[in-house]
Amino acid sequence: MNESSLKKRLAKLNLGGLRYFESLGSTNDEALAWAARGADDFSLVVADEQTQGRGRLDRKWFTPKGSAIAMSLILRPTAVMRSHLSRTVGLAALSLADACLKLGLSPKIKWPNDILLDSKKTAGILVEMVWAGEDADSLVIGMGINVHKSAVPPRETLQFPATSLEDMLGNAPKREDIIFQILSNVQRWREQIGTERFIQAWEEKLAFRGEAIQIHAGGAESHQGILDGLESDGSLRICDEHNKSVIVRFGDVSLRPTA
Ligand code: ADP
Repeated sequence: MNESSLKKRLAKLNLGGLRYFESLGSTNDEALAWAARGADDFSLVVADEQTQGRGRLDRKWFTPKGSAIAMSLILRPTAVMRSHLSRTVGLAALSLADACLKLGLSPKIKWPNDILLDSKKTAGILVEMVWAGEDADSLVIGMGINVHKSAVPPRETLQFPATSLEDMLGNAPKREDIIFQILSNVQRWREQIGTERFIQAWEEKLAFRGEAIQIHAGGAESHQGILDGLESDGSLRICDEHNKSVIVRFGDVSLRPTA
């Protein structure tokens, strides 16, 4: 992938703008700065290498050169998107998952922000916003996708196992094609972000549904229960040992080890 091959592949999508970097600290940082300076809707930042890629809570996201997709999409929210801001991570997750489905894979969404293939992390999402007072001025959807095997961090550095599209398919698809597919999916799903169907589609792709999980929400706070589904705002609903619904807005989900 290079700037001209990417531009050519994305030509039909009517991007607001495209900035391509051989190497960049973080595509989200670049996109946030661009958005604050007035980037158009559907503008895209892509980097072949990310040296300061971020996950949630200042965790690091690994993007070595030539092996992965690191991109951040800027969306100017419509009125409907504004009333469903917390669904933005679902918009990204569904778009990524559908791109994997199209490759013949069986993606699952590890709530809230990871895509699993064969129960291993293949992609991560980081949504950030630029505010204008009380209003969301722009949304920045960051995505990191392990395309080649060499994108996968060493096992001993990870809390959760990881894989790549190449590991799953036997060969690495062209990064331009994956980016095209994801962006087309975003265009389609953003039209439906306010619908019940959107939540259903998101829920259907959740990993660990119906299974016993635990959620660590930072510090000593943790929840245990059966993963039930999603609330309308994208929060996770679990069913605890007293058969009571518990709603969780933030945290790290893992399967509960069986004794
Ligand atoms: P999670 O939602 O799983 O906590 P984050 O979105 O916060 O993950 O992403 C950061 C974490 O993901 C890091 O702490 C690291 O363990 C893991 N990680 C970093 N780079 C990659 C990668 N390329 N593929 C899979 N996992 C990664």
